[in-house]
Amino acid sequence: MKITEIHIYSHDLPVKDGPYRMAMTEVWTLPTTLVKLVSDTGHVGWGETCPVGSTYAEMHVGGAQAALRAMGQGLIGCEVAPIPLHQRMEALLNGHNYAKAAIDIAAHDLLGRALGVSVATLLGGALTDRVPSYYSTIVGDPDETARIAADKAAEGYPRLQIKVGGRPVEIDIATVRKVWERLRGTGTRLAVDGNRSLTTRDALTLSRECPDIPFVLEQPCNTVEDLQKIRPQIRHGLYMDENSTSLNTVVSAVGTGLVDGFGMKVTRIGGLQPMRVFRDLCAVRNLPHTCDDSWGGDIIAAACAHIGATVAPRLMEGAWLAQPYIDGHYDSRNGVRIEGGHIALPQGPGLGVVPDDGLFGAPIASFA
Ligand SMILES: [Mg+2]
Repeated sequence: MKITEIHIYSHDLPVKDGPYRMAMTEVWTLPTTLVKLVSDTGHVGWGETCPVGSTYAEMHVGGAQAALRAMGQGLIGCEVAPIPLHQRMEALLNGHNYAKAAIDIAAHDLLGRALGVSVATLLGGALTDRVPSYYSTIVGDPDETARIAADKAAEGYPRLQIKVGGRPVEIDIATVRKVWERLRGTGTRLAVDGNRSLTTRDALTLSRECPDIPFVLEQPCNTVEDLQKIRPQIRHGLYMDENSTSLNTVVSAVGTGLVDGFGMKVTRIGGLQPMRVFRDLCAVRNLPHTCDDSWGGDIIAAACAHIGATVAPRLMEGAWLAQPYIDGHYDSRNGVRIEGGHIALPQGPGLGVVPDDGLFGAPIASFA
């Protein structure tokens, strides 16, 4: 089964009740990029990639679309299977994992639809049909953040993530303390995410001032070297998110014991094929991790849910989705939703989500 057509679409996703605010990024609307693959058997598959602005990670929408245009023609005729496809993409373009991920996701969707099985089945098999999510607060006022955290825990989220950074660390410490006052005893797990913004000094202060609060500290500082520096001194579990840009980085971080877990993004690492390798590496070393992405609509959400369903539940930290922050769905019947802090695994072959015809307008590029 070979690729005969590739269509690339650009689509604006407005941020509901915006902006969405992290330590170094504030976004009101996000252009997402969708990829439609068609095979010589007439099957169709959809992929998506949606960087959350241009400063969150080493990716941006213009880069995604340029990389897809650069690879498009060279992928015509390629086998619709993850390993030959990644080989071909590597031969066409170095790096740009987040663009390759859209092709990878579309190929998994197409292959699943052609074989009549779900993407989770292709990835080894689902262990659940109810995938845990987690709620992430924006960098906000301590009391307001604590109120939101309590509400979300009551709603059924098994895990809360508090964004910190970009302000005096004393406010972050007060926020973590107020949140924990509300979460203690609920069984809700807590992550504190600096999104690369803290100095090592402030990361150490945050950890030392909250020795009684069992949170994990996610990507507090900007570089791997910063994480290495604070690692022997902090009192909390350390997770890597933004720095884990490839399987190579992951292997080093796992092998040297640098981290206790990961926040992992499907598109950052290059799609579902690298994601399953990552999942299996983490399982070998008992490292918990998320299976999410930085932003995106129903296609990304479904991809996260399918890989998330295949992770051992004790290691699954959740699949964060942008869905609560986005109006509308690509698939009016089977759009992916978080209910009670969990995601119902989309049913049906492939990703289980079929975008409504015409929603994305004319393609910005097509190859055949
Ligand atoms: Mg994170």
